[in-house]
Amino acid sequence: KKANGKYTVTFIEGDGIGPEVSKSVKQIFAAADAPIDWEPVDVTPIASDGPTAIPDEAIQSVRRNLVALKGPLATPVGEGHVSLNLTLRRTFNLFANVRPCRSLQGYKTPYDNVDTVLIRENTEGEYSGIEHIVVDGVVQCIKLITREASERVLRFAFQYAQSIRKPRVRVVHKATIMKMSDGLFLTTAQNVAKEFPDIEFDSELLDNACLKMVTDPTPYNDIVMVMPNLYGDILSDMCAGLIGGLGLTPSGNIGDECSIFEAVHGSAPDIAGKNLANPTALLLSSVMMLQHMGLNSHAERIHRAILQTIAEGKTLTGDLRGNAKTDEYTNAIIEKL
Ligand code: NAD
Repeated sequence: KKANGKYTVTFIEGDGIGPEVSKSVKQIFAAADAPIDWEPVDVTPIASDGPTAIPDEAIQSVRRNLVALKGPLATPVGEGHVSLNLTLRRTFNLFANVRPCRSLQGYKTPYDNVDTVLIRENTEGEYSGIEHIVVDGVVQCIKLITREASERVLRFAFQYAQSIRKPRVRVVHKATIMKMSDGLFLTTAQNVAKEFPDIEFDSELLDNACLKMVTDPTPYNDIVMVMPNLYGDILSDMCAGLIGGLGLTPSGNIGDECSIFEAVHGSAPDIAGKNLANPTALLLSSVMMLQHMGLNSHAERIHRAILQTIAEGKTLTGDLRGNAKTDEYTNAIIEKL
Protein backbone atom coordinates (compact mmCIF):
# COMPACT_ATOMS: atom_id res chain seq x y z
CA LYS A 1 0.00 0.00 0.00
CA LYS A 2 1.31 3.38 -0.95
CA ALA A 3 1.14 6.71 0.87
CA ASN A 4 -1.87 7.71 -1.29
CA GLY A 5 -3.77 4.67 0.04
CA LYS A 6 -3.54 2.82 -3.26
CA TYR A 7 -1.96 -0.48 -4.22
CA THR A 8 0.14 -0.94 -7.34
CA VAL A 9 -0.84 -3.94 -9.46
CA THR A 10 1.04 -5.17 -12.52
CA PHE A 11 -1.14 -5.22 -15.64
CA ILE A 12 -0.30 -7.46 -18.60
CA GLU A 13 -2.86 -6.48 -21.22
CA GLY A 14 -2.12 -9.39 -23.54
CA ASP A 15 -2.79 -10.09 -27.20
CA GLY A 16 -5.86 -10.21 -29.48
CA ILE A 17 -8.89 -9.06 -27.47
CA GLY A 18 -6.59 -8.44 -24.47
CA PRO A 19 -6.30 -4.65 -24.88
CA GLU A 20 -10.10 -4.31 -25.37
CA VAL A 21 -11.09 -6.29 -22.28
CA SER A 22 -8.28 -4.62 -20.30
CA LYS A 23 -9.62 -1.18 -21.20
CA SER A 24 -13.01 -2.21 -19.84
CA VAL A 25 -11.47 -3.25 -16.51
CA LYS A 26 -9.51 0.00 -16.22
CA GLN A 27 -12.59 2.13 -16.93
CA ILE A 28 -14.74 0.23 -14.43
CA PHE A 29 -12.06 0.35 -11.70
CA ALA A 30 -11.68 4.09 -12.22
CA ALA A 31 -15.47 4.60 -12.04
CA ALA A 32 -15.66 2.47 -8.89
CA ASP A 33 -12.80 4.38 -7.23
CA ALA A 34 -10.98 1.12 -6.63
CA PRO A 35 -7.69 1.89 -4.86
CA ILE A 36 -5.51 0.39 -7.59
CA ASP A 37 -2.71 1.99 -9.61
CA TRP A 38 -2.00 -0.13 -12.68
CA GLU A 39 1.59 -0.72 -13.73
CA PRO A 40 1.47 -1.85 -17.36
CA VAL A 41 4.22 -4.24 -18.47
CA ASP A 42 5.13 -5.87 -21.73
CA VAL A 43 5.85 -9.60 -21.67
CA THR A 44 6.86 -10.02 -25.31
CA PRO A 45 9.56 -12.69 -25.00
CA ILE A 46 13.18 -11.68 -25.35
CA ALA A 47 14.84 -13.34 -28.31
CA SER A 48 17.21 -16.00 -27.04
CA ASP A 49 18.51 -19.41 -27.97
CA GLY A 50 17.50 -20.81 -24.61
CA PRO A 51 14.03 -21.32 -23.15
CA THR A 52 11.35 -18.62 -23.55
CA ALA A 53 12.27 -15.69 -21.33
CA ILE A 54 10.16 -12.81 -20.10
CA PRO A 55 11.67 -9.30 -20.01
CA ASP A 56 13.32 -8.62 -16.67
CA GLU A 57 11.30 -5.43 -16.14
CA ALA A 58 8.06 -7.44 -16.22
CA ILE A 59 9.44 -10.00 -13.78
CA GLN A 60 10.63 -7.30 -11.40
CA SER A 61 7.23 -5.59 -11.57
CA VAL A 62 5.33 -8.73 -10.55
CA ARG A 63 7.87 -9.53 -7.82
CA ARG A 64 7.58 -6.00 -6.44
CA ASN A 65 3.78 -5.74 -6.56
CA LEU A 66 3.03 -9.42 -5.71
CA VAL A 67 -0.26 -9.21 -7.62
CA ALA A 68 -0.88 -9.01 -11.37
CA LEU A 69 -3.87 -8.96 -13.70
CA LYS A 70 -3.29 -10.52 -17.08
CA GLY A 71 -5.07 -10.58 -20.42
CA PRO A 72 -4.73 -13.56 -22.79
CA LEU A 73 -1.40 -14.27 -24.49
CA ALA A 74 -1.31 -15.91 -27.92
CA THR A 75 0.94 -18.93 -28.21
CA PRO A 76 2.30 -19.63 -31.69
CA VAL A 77 1.79 -23.28 -32.64
CA GLY A 78 4.89 -25.20 -33.63
CA GLU A 79 8.28 -26.29 -32.47
CA GLY A 80 10.54 -24.10 -30.41
CA HIS A 81 7.81 -22.05 -28.73
CA VAL A 82 7.18 -22.57 -25.06
CA SER A 83 3.85 -21.04 -24.07
CA LEU A 84 4.32 -17.67 -22.38
CA ASN A 85 1.55 -18.61 -19.99
CA LEU A 86 3.52 -21.67 -18.91
CA THR A 87 6.66 -19.54 -18.65
CA LEU A 88 4.86 -17.07 -16.36
CA ARG A 89 3.53 -19.90 -14.18
CA ARG A 90 7.01 -21.38 -13.91
CA THR A 91 8.81 -18.07 -13.36
CA PHE A 92 6.62 -17.20 -10.38
CA ASN A 93 5.95 -20.76 -9.25
CA LEU A 94 2.18 -20.27 -9.47
CA PHE A 95 1.33 -23.76 -8.32
CA ALA A 96 -2.46 -23.56 -7.99
CA ASN A 97 -4.99 -22.42 -10.55
CA VAL A 98 -8.36 -21.59 -9.03
CA ARG A 99 -11.32 -21.65 -11.43
CA PRO A 100 -14.78 -20.89 -10.09
CA CYS A 101 -17.86 -21.20 -12.33
CA ARG A 102 -21.14 -19.75 -11.16
CA SER A 103 -24.41 -19.47 -13.11
CA LEU A 104 -25.30 -15.91 -13.99
CA GLN A 105 -28.89 -14.85 -13.66
CA GLY A 106 -30.05 -13.39 -16.97
CA TYR A 107 -28.15 -15.78 -19.17
CA LYS A 108 -30.16 -18.97 -19.50
CA THR A 109 -28.25 -22.26 -19.76
CA PRO A 110 -29.55 -25.81 -19.23
CA TYR A 111 -28.76 -25.52 -15.49
CA ASP A 112 -29.56 -22.51 -13.30
CA ASN A 113 -27.64 -23.13 -10.11
CA VAL A 114 -24.11 -24.09 -11.06
CA ASP A 115 -21.51 -23.00 -8.46
CA THR A 116 -18.41 -25.12 -8.94
CA VAL A 117 -14.83 -24.47 -7.79
CA LEU A 118 -12.02 -26.33 -9.50
CA ILE A 119 -8.37 -26.17 -8.49
CA ARG A 120 -5.87 -27.29 -11.05
CA GLU A 121 -2.26 -28.26 -10.31
CA ASN A 122 -0.45 -25.70 -12.41
CA THR A 123 3.19 -26.74 -12.74
CA GLU A 124 3.60 -30.36 -13.82
CA GLY A 125 1.70 -33.41 -15.14
CA GLU A 126 1.59 -33.67 -18.94
CA TYR A 127 2.42 -29.95 -19.12
CA SER A 128 5.96 -30.40 -17.81
CA GLY A 129 7.23 -29.93 -21.35
CA ILE A 130 9.20 -33.18 -21.40
CA GLU A 131 8.63 -34.60 -24.88
CA HIS A 132 11.04 -36.36 -27.23
CA ILE A 133 11.29 -38.51 -30.31
CA VAL A 134 12.11 -42.14 -29.52
CA VAL A 135 12.54 -43.14 -33.17
CA ASP A 136 11.03 -41.62 -36.29
CA GLY A 137 7.24 -41.89 -35.96
CA VAL A 138 7.29 -42.54 -32.21
CA VAL A 139 7.21 -39.72 -29.66
CA GLN A 140 7.06 -39.86 -25.93
CA CYS A 141 5.63 -37.29 -23.50
CA ILE A 142 6.39 -37.67 -19.84
CA LYS A 143 3.72 -36.98 -17.24
CA LEU A 144 5.57 -35.84 -14.19
CA ILE A 145 3.90 -36.03 -10.79
CA THR A 146 5.85 -35.21 -7.64
CA ARG A 147 4.76 -35.57 -4.05
CA GLU A 148 6.03 -32.07 -3.32
CA ALA A 149 3.95 -30.28 -5.99
CA SER A 150 0.92 -32.48 -5.27
CA GLU A 151 1.08 -31.81 -1.54
CA ARG A 152 1.37 -28.09 -2.12
CA VAL A 153 -1.71 -27.80 -4.35
CA LEU A 154 -3.72 -30.25 -2.22
CA ARG A 155 -3.00 -28.35 0.98
CA PHE A 156 -4.02 -25.15 -0.81
CA ALA A 157 -7.30 -26.82 -1.90
CA PHE A 158 -8.20 -27.68 1.69
CA GLN A 159 -7.31 -24.17 2.89
CA TYR A 160 -9.34 -22.69 0.05
CA ALA A 161 -12.35 -24.86 0.95
CA GLN A 162 -12.09 -23.55 4.51
CA SER A 163 -11.85 -19.95 3.34
CA ILE A 164 -14.91 -20.11 1.09
CA ARG A 165 -16.82 -22.37 3.49
CA LYS A 166 -17.29 -25.39 1.24
CA PRO A 167 -17.58 -28.58 3.30
CA ARG A 168 -15.78 -31.02 0.99
CA VAL A 169 -12.64 -31.48 -1.09
CA ARG A 170 -12.70 -34.02 -3.90
CA VAL A 171 -9.72 -35.33 -5.87
CA VAL A 172 -10.53 -36.05 -9.53
CA HIS A 173 -8.15 -38.61 -11.01
CA LYS A 174 -7.52 -41.73 -13.13
CA ALA A 175 -5.52 -43.72 -10.60
CA THR A 176 -7.23 -46.89 -11.84
CA ILE A 177 -5.18 -46.60 -15.05
CA MET A 178 -2.27 -44.34 -14.09
CA LYS A 179 -1.66 -46.24 -10.91
CA MET A 180 1.69 -44.71 -10.04
CA SER A 181 1.34 -41.06 -11.13
CA ASP A 182 -2.31 -40.37 -10.29
CA GLY A 183 -1.87 -42.93 -7.53
CA LEU A 184 0.76 -40.69 -5.91
CA PHE A 185 -1.53 -37.65 -6.23
CA LEU A 186 -4.37 -39.58 -4.61
CA THR A 187 -2.39 -41.07 -1.70
CA THR A 188 -0.83 -37.67 -1.06
CA ALA A 189 -4.38 -36.26 -0.89
CA GLN A 190 -5.42 -38.92 1.60
CA ASN A 191 -2.50 -37.91 3.82
CA VAL A 192 -3.08 -34.15 3.51
CA ALA A 193 -6.78 -34.70 4.31
CA LYS A 194 -5.77 -35.86 7.80
CA GLU A 195 -4.51 -32.33 8.52
CA PHE A 196 -8.02 -30.96 7.87
CA PRO A 197 -10.48 -32.96 9.98
CA ASP A 198 -13.14 -30.24 9.55
CA ILE A 199 -13.24 -30.74 5.76
CA GLU A 200 -14.75 -33.89 4.24
CA PHE A 201 -12.65 -35.64 1.65
CA ASP A 202 -13.36 -38.07 -1.18
CA SER A 203 -12.26 -38.87 -4.72
CA GLU A 204 -13.86 -39.54 -8.08
CA LEU A 205 -12.72 -40.84 -11.45
CA LEU A 206 -12.44 -38.15 -14.11
CA ASP A 207 -14.73 -39.86 -16.63
CA ASN A 208 -17.39 -40.36 -14.00
CA ALA A 209 -17.09 -36.73 -12.88
CA CYS A 210 -17.66 -35.54 -16.49
CA LEU A 211 -20.69 -37.75 -16.91
CA LYS A 212 -22.22 -36.72 -13.59
CA MET A 213 -21.54 -33.01 -14.00
CA VAL A 214 -23.21 -32.66 -17.37
CA THR A 215 -26.13 -34.78 -16.13
CA ASP A 216 -26.65 -32.68 -12.99
CA PRO A 217 -23.98 -30.27 -11.76
CA THR A 218 -25.77 -29.17 -8.57
CA PRO A 219 -24.29 -31.89 -6.27
CA TYR A 220 -20.88 -30.37 -7.09
CA ASN A 221 -21.79 -27.04 -5.51
CA ASP A 222 -20.61 -28.14 -2.06
CA ILE A 223 -17.27 -29.40 -3.31
CA VAL A 224 -13.86 -27.95 -4.07
CA MET A 225 -12.46 -30.20 -6.81
CA VAL A 226 -8.68 -30.55 -7.10
CA MET A 227 -6.78 -32.45 -9.80
CA PRO A 228 -3.62 -32.83 -11.86
CA ASN A 229 -2.89 -30.24 -14.55
CA LEU A 230 -4.37 -31.68 -17.78
CA TYR A 231 -7.60 -32.88 -16.17
CA GLY A 232 -8.08 -29.44 -14.62
CA ASP A 233 -7.52 -27.71 -17.94
CA ILE A 234 -10.21 -29.75 -19.67
CA LEU A 235 -12.74 -30.13 -16.86
CA SER A 236 -12.69 -26.40 -16.11
CA ASP A 237 -13.61 -25.58 -19.71
CA MET A 238 -16.45 -28.09 -19.40
CA CYS A 239 -17.63 -26.25 -16.28
CA ALA A 240 -17.39 -22.96 -18.24
CA GLY A 241 -19.68 -24.50 -20.84
CA LEU A 242 -22.26 -25.22 -18.13
CA ILE A 243 -22.62 -21.53 -17.29
CA GLY A 244 -22.40 -19.97 -20.76
CA GLY A 245 -18.87 -20.21 -22.07
CA LEU A 246 -15.40 -18.79 -21.89
CA GLY A 247 -16.44 -15.13 -21.92
CA LEU A 248 -17.60 -15.54 -18.31
CA THR A 249 -15.00 -17.54 -16.40
CA PRO A 250 -12.28 -16.03 -14.21
CA SER A 251 -9.23 -17.64 -12.66
CA GLY A 252 -6.43 -17.02 -10.22
CA ASN A 253 -2.91 -18.43 -10.46
CA ILE A 254 -1.69 -18.59 -6.89
CA GLY A 255 1.90 -18.95 -5.72
CA ASP A 256 3.68 -18.68 -2.38
CA GLU A 257 4.55 -15.05 -3.05
CA CYS A 258 2.98 -13.73 -6.24
CA SER A 259 -0.46 -14.28 -7.76
CA ILE A 260 -1.65 -13.60 -11.30
CA PHE A 261 -5.36 -13.31 -12.08
CA GLU A 262 -6.58 -13.91 -15.62
CA ALA A 263 -9.58 -14.94 -17.72
CA VAL A 264 -9.67 -18.60 -18.70
CA HIS A 265 -10.16 -17.75 -22.39
CA GLY A 266 -7.49 -17.07 -25.02
CA SER A 267 -6.81 -14.10 -27.28
CA ALA A 268 -9.87 -14.81 -29.52
CA PRO A 269 -8.18 -13.75 -32.78
CA ASP A 270 -11.48 -14.25 -34.65
CA ILE A 271 -13.09 -11.25 -32.91
CA ALA A 272 -10.03 -9.18 -31.92
CA GLY A 273 -10.10 -5.45 -32.60
CA LYS A 274 -13.83 -5.43 -33.38
CA ASN A 275 -15.19 -4.18 -30.05
CA LEU A 276 -17.11 -7.49 -29.73
CA ALA A 277 -15.30 -9.22 -26.86
CA ASN A 278 -17.03 -9.94 -23.59
CA PRO A 279 -14.86 -8.47 -20.80
CA THR A 280 -16.77 -10.30 -18.02
CA ALA A 281 -14.16 -13.04 -17.55
CA LEU A 282 -11.33 -10.56 -16.98
CA LEU A 283 -13.63 -8.40 -14.86
CA LEU A 284 -14.56 -11.34 -12.63
CA SER A 285 -10.83 -12.18 -12.44
CA SER A 286 -10.21 -8.63 -11.25
CA VAL A 287 -12.95 -9.12 -8.63
CA MET A 288 -11.15 -12.29 -7.45
CA MET A 289 -7.97 -10.23 -7.33
CA LEU A 290 -9.59 -7.57 -5.11
CA GLN A 291 -10.89 -10.32 -2.79
CA HIS A 292 -7.42 -11.85 -2.66
CA MET A 293 -6.06 -8.42 -1.64
CA GLY A 294 -8.70 -8.10 1.07
CA LEU A 295 -10.46 -5.24 -0.74
CA ASN A 296 -13.81 -6.89 -0.27
CA SER A 297 -16.12 -3.90 -0.40
CA HIS A 298 -14.71 -2.76 -3.74
CA ALA A 299 -14.88 -6.33 -5.03
CA GLU A 300 -18.50 -6.60 -3.92
CA ARG A 301 -19.51 -3.29 -5.53
CA ILE A 302 -18.00 -4.11 -8.92
CA HIS A 303 -19.30 -7.69 -8.79
CA ARG A 304 -22.83 -6.53 -8.08
CA ALA A 305 -22.77 -4.05 -10.99
CA ILE A 306 -21.64 -6.82 -13.38
CA LEU A 307 -24.31 -9.25 -12.14
CA GLN A 308 -27.05 -6.61 -12.36
CA THR A 309 -26.08 -5.69 -15.91
CA ILE A 310 -26.19 -9.32 -17.05
CA ALA A 311 -29.41 -10.02 -15.12
CA GLU A 312 -31.08 -7.06 -16.78
CA GLY A 313 -30.22 -8.66 -20.13
CA LYS A 314 -30.48 -5.42 -22.12
CA THR A 315 -26.81 -4.81 -22.85
CA LEU A 316 -25.11 -8.14 -23.54
CA THR A 317 -22.25 -9.00 -25.89
CA GLY A 318 -22.65 -11.35 -28.86
CA ASP A 319 -21.38 -14.47 -27.09
CA LEU A 320 -24.35 -14.04 -24.69
CA ARG A 321 -26.79 -13.70 -27.58
CA GLY A 322 -26.86 -9.89 -27.24
CA ASN A 323 -25.79 -7.23 -29.70
CA ALA A 324 -23.91 -4.78 -27.49
CA LYS A 325 -20.35 -3.75 -28.22
CA THR A 326 -17.65 -4.17 -25.57
CA ASP A 327 -17.75 -0.48 -24.64
CA GLU A 328 -21.58 -0.36 -24.47
CA TYR A 329 -21.55 -3.24 -22.00
CA THR A 330 -18.77 -1.52 -20.03
CA ASN A 331 -20.78 1.71 -19.85
CA ALA A 332 -23.87 -0.21 -18.69
CA ILE A 333 -21.83 -1.60 -15.78
CA ILE A 334 -20.45 1.85 -14.95
CA GLU A 335 -24.03 3.21 -14.78
CA LYS A 336 -24.84 0.58 -12.17
CA LEU A 337 -21.92 1.47 -9.92
P1 NAD B 1 -9.98 -18.62 -27.38
O1 NAD B 1 -10.40 -18.74 -25.97
O2 NAD B 1 -9.13 -17.46 -27.73
O3 NAD B 1 -11.26 -18.61 -28.34
C1 NAD B 1 -12.19 -19.67 -28.40
C2 NAD B 1 -13.56 -19.13 -28.86
O4 NAD B 1 -14.16 -18.41 -27.79
C3 NAD B 1 -13.45 -18.15 -30.03
O5 NAD B 1 -14.55 -18.32 -30.88
C4 NAD B 1 -13.53 -16.78 -29.36
O6 NAD B 1 -14.07 -15.77 -30.18
C5 NAD B 1 -14.43 -17.08 -28.17
N1 NAD B 1 -14.09 -16.20 -27.03
C6 NAD B 1 -13.03 -16.33 -26.19
N2 NAD B 1 -13.03 -15.34 -25.30
C7 NAD B 1 -14.09 -14.56 -25.56
C8 NAD B 1 -14.60 -13.36 -24.98
N3 NAD B 1 -14.02 -12.76 -23.93
N4 NAD B 1 -15.71 -12.82 -25.51
C9 NAD B 1 -16.34 -13.40 -26.56
N5 NAD B 1 -15.91 -14.54 -27.16
C10 NAD B 1 -14.78 -15.10 -26.66
O7 NAD B 1 -9.20 -19.98 -27.76
P2 NAD B 1 -8.29 -20.33 -29.04
O8 NAD B 1 -8.87 -19.70 -30.25
O9 NAD B 1 -8.09 -21.78 -28.96
O10 NAD B 1 -6.89 -19.64 -28.74
C11 NAD B 1 -6.46 -18.42 -29.31
C12 NAD B 1 -5.07 -18.07 -28.74
O11 NAD B 1 -5.16 -17.83 -27.33
C13 NAD B 1 -4.03 -19.16 -28.92
O12 NAD B 1 -2.80 -18.55 -29.28
C14 NAD B 1 -3.91 -19.77 -27.54
O13 NAD B 1 -2.63 -20.32 -27.31
C15 NAD B 1 -4.16 -18.59 -26.65
N6 NAD B 1 -4.67 -18.93 -25.31
C16 NAD B 1 -4.22 -18.17 -24.28
C17 NAD B 1 -4.72 -18.39 -23.01
C18 NAD B 1 -4.21 -17.53 -21.88
O14 NAD B 1 -3.55 -16.54 -22.13
N7 NAD B 1 -4.50 -17.86 -20.65
C19 NAD B 1 -5.69 -19.37 -22.78
C20 NAD B 1 -6.16 -20.11 -23.87
C21 NAD B 1 -5.66 -19.87 -25.14
